[in-house]
Amino acid sequence: HAKNAGRNNHQFYTARMNEAAGERLQMENELRQAVSGITPGHCEFSLHFQPQIQTATGKVIGLEALLRWDNPTFGRVSPMRFIAIAEETGLILPLGDWVIWETCRLTRSLKDQGLGDVRVAINISAQQLRHDNLLLLIRGALACYDLSPQDIELEVTESTAMQNPEVTLSILDQLAAMGIMLAIDDFGTGYSSLAYLKHLPINRLKLDRSFVTDIETDANDAAICTATIALGHSLGLELVAEGVETEEQRDFLARLGCDVLQGYLYSKPMPFADVVAYLQAQRIATE
Ligand code: C2E
Ligand code: MG
Ligand code: MG
Ligand code: MG
Repeated sequence: HAKNAGRNNHQFYTARMNEAAGERLQMENELRQAVSGITPGHCEFSLHFQPQIQTATGKVIGLEALLRWDNPTFGRVSPMRFIAIAEETGLILPLGDWVIWETCRLTRSLKDQGLGDVRVAINISAQQLRHDNLLLLIRGALACYDLSPQDIELEVTESTAMQNPEVTLSILDQLAAMGIMLAIDDFGTGYSSLAYLKHLPINRLKLDRSFVTDIETDANDAAICTATIALGHSLGLELVAEGVETEEQRDFLARLGCDVLQGYLYSKPMPFADVVAYLQAQRIATE
């Protein structure tokens, strides 16, 4: 009996694994088709934008562009999931190019509507950062939409920045020389060394959401935030907190001197039309 049960479990387990692998494969196929623009005139990708608020003034000083994928079969797929697939398959390169072009197009649109005094941040994955067309691509997109390097910012995660230190440093140096602002995303999760960090031409550290969530109740998280903000400031960097959901978290981070706040407390990431309305309302409120 035990033997049978074991075999049944095994069969069940394999069936489940096949199902998961099948779904993964199907999602990869759907992603490939979406990236290659299978349906003319219909794009499954869009960008949402989340405001970044200056702690001292409450003003919106930036937006982060966040990719969304709406697929007929899978519905809205989490970026955590489809970006991992895009990275494994190399699809992140054409998809990332699209993100850069589309962000620049929409940033131009904000400027044309008199809402251009925000910097727009673009997430860049490891493969994109190391691909030798990145500089050309960014220069081209900025020129095409008549933007200046100060209008955008690139975010690379701490773990991306730690891979291949020499290549990374050389690319970041070239981007910085162009006048592009650079932020280290998910900071605190990658165990990078201070000795390394101080050589990078970066402007901002984005404190990972995992340290912000329990900042008031977890003494370790509070200590990490306190130390990171002090450390960042001592290196001349601006500190951005991710995932600020409550007024208590906001007040705590403000007391620590965190420069910029981003999170659901202010706004979830929103479609472009909504961000236009949001920025217009903000402008009226602060006039
Ligand atoms: P990220 O760059 O660290 O972006 C922040 C994530 O936290 C976003 O998730 C955002 O919606 C979420 N978030 C913001 N405020 C809050 C909050 O108060 N509470 C909670 N619980 N979450 C909050 P999203 O949009 O699902 O993106 C997840 C990750 O996918 C991003 O993390 C980024 O690593 C990646 N990603 C998104 N768009 C792109 C892209 O265009 N290119 C690349 N390479 N990666 C992207
Ligand atoms: Mg980011
Ligand atoms: Mg992050
Ligand atoms: Mg993240």
